[in-house]
Amino acid sequence: MSARILVVDDILANRRLMQAKLEAKYYSVLLAENGPQAIEVAHSSAPEIILLDVMMPGMDGYEVCRQLKASPETAHIPVVMLTALSETADRVRGLDAGADDFLTKPVDDFALMSRLNALLRYNAVTTELRQREASGVKIGAFNEDEASTLNRPVNVLVVDTSPYNIKRLREPLERAGHSVITLEEADALKKSNEKLDVVLLGLSNQGYDPLRLCAHLRTNDATRALSIIVTVDERDIDLAGRALELGASDVIQQPLAVEELLARIRTQTRRSRYVEILRNRVDRGLELSVIDQLTGLYNRRYMNNQLSLWMKRSSMGGTPLSVVSVDIDHFKKVNDVYGHEAGDRVLKEFAERIMANVRPKDIVCRPGGEEFLVIMPETGGDLACSAAERIRRAIAAEPFDGGTRSSSRLEVTVSAGVATFQGDEDTIADMMRRADDALYKAKSAGRNQVKSLAA
Ligand SMILES: [Mg+2]
Repeated sequence: MSARILVVDDILANRRLMQAKLEAKYYSVLLAENGPQAIEVAHSSAPEIILLDVMMPGMDGYEVCRQLKASPETAHIPVVMLTALSETADRVRGLDAGADDFLTKPVDDFALMSRLNALLRYNAVTTELRQREASGVKIGAFNEDEASTLNRPVNVLVVDTSPYNIKRLREPLERAGHSVITLEEADALKKSNEKLDVVLLGLSNQGYDPLRLCAHLRTNDATRALSIIVTVDERDIDLAGRALELGASDVIQQPLAVEELLARIRTQTRRSRYVEILRNRVDRGLELSVIDQLTGLYNRRYMNNQLSLWMKRSSMGGTPLSVVSVDIDHFKKVNDVYGHEAGDRVLKEFAERIMANVRPKDIVCRPGGEEFLVIMPETGGDLACSAAERIRRAIAAEPFDGGTRSSSRLEVTVSAGVATFQGDEDTIADMMRRADDALYKAKSAGRNQVKSLAA
């Protein structure tokens, strides 16, 4: 995975050293020697990751980070703070300034590459989601609920065969407000419906193959999105490399510093929750853009997409395709006599009855007003006519609830027109026109019936 990385450090030798390390791994490197320059390059050159020294004269790393995170153009770029060993408390301060990760100087090659890999994977996901936003789905700013979700305490599953290790991890985690679950307690968690956030997986001195477990967690649907943080003794560092290849999110070397553990859990969790929020928003946005709000049926935009898709499939595969145009008889009268509230109520119930009387593969749309259209994939004209007839009967069979202003229940009927796809030369407009012509035939023949042009 190659990427453009901005290295910010006030000392030339540090910049050169980092540049050499990164270029040896085929990253391309941008350099900045102070805060203002870093901000300028971040805006002009759009790096994918920023490695940011904390101690710099003038504007320090914390302030640079704050400014980068405050600007919409640069807020999404992951920032890794570089702190000196003595600045242990400052690591957390970096995260408070909005940093996505931190590394301790002198920077260990292995730690550097594993952080970069994890961040690039994260970038790939968020970039994809942001592109979807750019292509018409508005994600917008996080609301308060979502923002507070990012910092909620987490459920940590500790996988380790040593009771001593578990105890040593449990204490600081629980003191920080997190819940610790061991493998023995995992079943109870499943039952309680609580969600697991992080797996803390010991790689060294285990009685089983921890890499197999890591791979299993990553390929299993239920656990795929979990953050997996592996802990490893220095002499087993190769194992950690393999774990990262298999999808572990982060690595911590033993002996483990509590503060680092907490900070890593926090960054990992914030990241996965951020992705989850984005995903939900994209899904919801997509849904809003294709669903008619009143009836829950698909809107005209989705209808046209699906029609053109199924027409293409039909052309290629030779399977038939039909559409049924459905229109409520005398709907204007319902609105005029009983008001729009009753009208809306009828439209909703009407949609429910149609949905209850089509097959799962049929696509029911409300392109507008009292017009409905059912796309019936892999369905020829005769079959479509009998499906339309079933819908017609379901509507006429029982009166509708007219709401408070109508004392009695409302008799509602529909007319329907069926059209089938005519092959390559056919267009959406032509097929819709044929369906409407058939519908018109049904209306003029006295309503409450189904017609196709051929019939
Ligand atoms: Mg410095």
